[in-house]
Amino acid sequence: MKKKLPEWVPENAGTGFTTHILPLYKSRNNSNPSIVQKHIKDTGEIKKKINESLSLSEYKEGVLAKDKVILARAITLVESNADKHFDLAQELIKEILPFTGNSIRIGITGVPGAGKSTFIETFGLHIIELGKSPAVLAIDPSSTVSKGSILGDKTRMETLSKNDNAFIRPSPSSGNLGGVTRKTKETLLLCEAAGFDVILIETVGVGQNEVTVRSMVDFFLLMLIAGAGDELQGIKKGVFELADAILINKADGNNIIATQTTNTIYNNTLHYLADATPGWKTKSYTCSAKNNIGIDNIWTIISQFVDYTKKTKIFQDRRHQQTITWFKNMLHEEVLNQFYKKDNMKSKLDTVISEILNQKITPVVGVKKMMS
Ligand code: GDP
Repeated sequence: MKKKLPEWVPENAGTGFTTHILPLYKSRNNSNPSIVQKHIKDTGEIKKKINESLSLSEYKEGVLAKDKVILARAITLVESNADKHFDLAQELIKEILPFTGNSIRIGITGVPGAGKSTFIETFGLHIIELGKSPAVLAIDPSSTVSKGSILGDKTRMETLSKNDNAFIRPSPSSGNLGGVTRKTKETLLLCEAAGFDVILIETVGVGQNEVTVRSMVDFFLLMLIAGAGDELQGIKKGVFELADAILINKADGNNIIATQTTNTIYNNTLHYLADATPGWKTKSYTCSAKNNIGIDNIWTIISQFVDYTKKTKIFQDRRHQQTITWFKNMLHEEVLNQFYKKDNMKSKLDTVISEILNQKITPVVGVKKMMS
């Protein structure tokens, strides 16, 4: 039987585009039509066009009005690889750009099981109590790393996803032109324009996405657990150097002493690493995402970080640099796309690779041959 996919999944999406359905959404749509109708009535005419295409101004108005249904559709538009959606998506991004920039952008990484989604749920609910509204973008690594579904198998952040002040969206990590670079960045901008003022971008710390995510956030958090060495945790060494804070999760029950020991070890090691953000000393902290211990402390640390970087102009400079990096990354990807799209490129590549493997030519000559 074909698995039912959420409405944001493009038609004919392959297994690379994994995602999941949250139970609340299901029950609203399937078992209680009156709620759907009430929702449409409450939120205006525009929702009636649920199956029709929206115009640029309808997208724009909906996003700026923080209409989550339209925001979700705008993200689908931006994520689409279809040529016919590209121009409209770019127009929309241009239109909403003046309304962006007013959030704190936070990246969170750590291996599966470290407790990232539990943390995001507790942390998200904590900052909602402080009057903030968080948007969570989870980069699904399945298409590049495991070819399976990591996010798809479990229901995550259930309480947060039901909260009116929060927005949660898985983000595909594959695709043409940009993949994570373009789609996650543009999704982030759409969420900002919608008025979400804390954007959390979650990745699994085993792939290449961390450097990309670091290049679009203000604060980068690495989540670990006690008792496993870095190698066991599958964290690449370079990822430590990207972090503005390390958080040892599951500091509860029998695990408290182990977490404190691990915390001390990391704090000693961090002395020898270069700062991820100039002048900001990266430190390690403990928390229990499950029991809501130490979560308020992390928000305090992030707030101090934002104050410090804004005062020193690092915040603004970094965002400026990030925009340049964003453009350059997309340019590089487009140049590569154009190159590989050229006539017979695949068969030429196969021929050159076999010549290299048979030692008929050197790799350098192979490159020259491809370029000519
Ligand atoms: P993720 O894969 O990094 O998103 O991890 P999850 O949030 O799904 O958590 C993995 C497992 O660790 C789940 O069984 C959670 O209940 C558990 N867990 C998460 N945070 C804590 C915590 O603070 N304390 C304890 N004891 N368990 C936790």
